[in-house]
Amino acid sequence: MSEEQLSFQAEVSRLLDIVAHSLYSNKEIFLRELISNASDACDKLRYLAVTDGDLMKDDPEFRIDLEIDPDGKTLTISDNGVGMNRQELIDNLGTIARSGTDAFMAQMENNKDGNNLIGQFGVGFYSAYMVSDTITVTSRRAGEDQGWKWVSDGKGTFTVSEADKDTRGTSIELHLKEEQKEFGEELRLRTIIKTYSDHIPIPIRFKKAASTNEDGTIENAGEWETLNSASAIWTRSKSDVSDEQYKEFYHHVAHAYDDPWLQEHFRVEGVLEYSGLLFIPGSKPFDLFHPERKHGVKLYVRRVFITDDCQELVPAYMRFLKGVIDSEDLPLNISREMLQDNPMLRKIRSGIIKRVLGLLDKKAENEPEEFIKFWENFGPVLKEGLYEDLPQKDPILKLCRFRSINNDGWISLADYIANMKEGQEHIYYISGEDEKALRRSPQVEGFKAKGVDVLVLNDSVDEFWVTSINEFEGKDFKSVTRGGADLGKIDGSDTADEKSEDKEDDKAEMGALLGYLKLTLEDEVKDIRSSERLTDSAVCLVADEGDMDIHLERILRSHNQ
Ligand code: ADP
Ligand code: MG
Repeated sequence: MSEEQLSFQAEVSRLLDIVAHSLYSNKEIFLRELISNASDACDKLRYLAVTDGDLMKDDPEFRIDLEIDPDGKTLTISDNGVGMNRQELIDNLGTIARSGTDAFMAQMENNKDGNNLIGQFGVGFYSAYMVSDTITVTSRRAGEDQGWKWVSDGKGTFTVSEADKDTRGTSIELHLKEEQKEFGEELRLRTIIKTYSDHIPIPIRFKKAASTNEDGTIENAGEWETLNSASAIWTRSKSDVSDEQYKEFYHHVAHAYDDPWLQEHFRVEGVLEYSGLLFIPGSKPFDLFHPERKHGVKLYVRRVFITDDCQELVPAYMRFLKGVIDSEDLPLNISREMLQDNPMLRKIRSGIIKRVLGLLDKKAENEPEEFIKFWENFGPVLKEGLYEDLPQKDPILKLCRFRSINNDGWISLADYIANMKEGQEHIYYISGEDEKALRRSPQVEGFKAKGVDVLVLNDSVDEFWVTSINEFEGKDFKSVTRGGADLGKIDGSDTADEKSEDKEDDKAEMGALLGYLKLTLEDEVKDIRSSERLTDSAVCLVADEGDMDIHLERILRSHNQ
């Protein structure tokens, strides 16, 4: 078949345009991305070879090789991983499957100094266009005979043609931009690899430049030197891993470039044995609420990568977790289907849940300000656990932080309960979308006047848990927009007794007014009551005790339910 020209998916063209013109100063991340891909490709093949040993029998040792041409104009990164066939080259390098891409690009295009976003988002393979004007990818899929060549200058189109390739795997040749020649220099590359890729569990080799001895003999020509320690970082003991190395590993597994907020390296022994290295990111990923988002925890079995898409390993409400879990007990040839109802995996999962909730609790206790950073990024996600994982309801509620009408900062439920007024029996809340509007809403006026605090719930997830949770430490949750607020029983701060005859007069007049209003609004409302919940406003809408909360009713109505 002769050469064929194809167009990039429109999103890829837009992304490439951004990448090529980016002023992002950390251009060296392209090398980490390409090495990361090479390492992923080896992981994939190792997994396939568990059931089909022939795939790698001819060349069983994985490696990632770096080579520069003598003029320093090209840099080539080769691996003997799973490789790609024609269709895979077209799909993987011509389209973007990643969720959140649109949001990322809109931000980049609107924001002149949005360059840091490149690092945050991790543009993967395409980052190589920050330093290259043309890229040639030659690849052969393991188990197939035909090799393929993909070439592109990153400007709208690419070509695919047949290529001679004797060995499986992928070779990526970057033709460096004139002003990026530093990436064709041996010393520069060595430093980058040593610093950033030491945790890659596959040897990364560099072809040594030949040196001439005094007697004229040539040394080292064509010899390969391994630059990294090439052992899985989670198998090492903590004292052998530096903070820098943990951080770089986090960048690799999380596809992110921020600093982790939390890191946990552990080993569980006993009936069930597994080790793990888990992280909670320091910033909120773009696609946190995207339904197709993959989970960030990779499952390994005795150092063999199994999958990065195992729903059973980590619950959705902990989808902020990144890292690896490596089991000693699961069978190596476990299929992805077998993972679905596996008792060992269920135990590992509940172990992870307990561990993470425990770590969060400790952080909340010992470093409350740090904990708020986590809460602002991931609180809405963790709250999903309040209805998805009922057994964990109490530890999660304990971690929850809230806005409330009497506070500017965040409070916990324990804080709320400690500040309850004499005679107050419920935890009051108001829910809706706009925090400011909720704070001003007429329904909370009476509470404010009495000094009774009301939680302001304005995350979309709130409506779902608050209506299903009965109580926290014996106190139930009560919406201030529902039913008669029994403010009368509460001994608030404005208890200056009104004169009783005034009250009697008021009552009579109020009775007449209510009668008139009920008659006029008969078809619109169920009932009209006088209430202590208002101080400044004349009226407000509330739902009946047994009925749906007003905000929930609005949500459901907007979904046509
Ligand atoms: P990501 O790694 O997040 O999936 P990338 O842009 O880095 O995104 O890579 C896109 C895809 O291209 C990968 O998912 C993989 O399928 C494929 N790919 C990239 N590099 C290689 C490689 N060296 N060997 C095999 N496949 C690769
Ligand atoms: Mg990648």
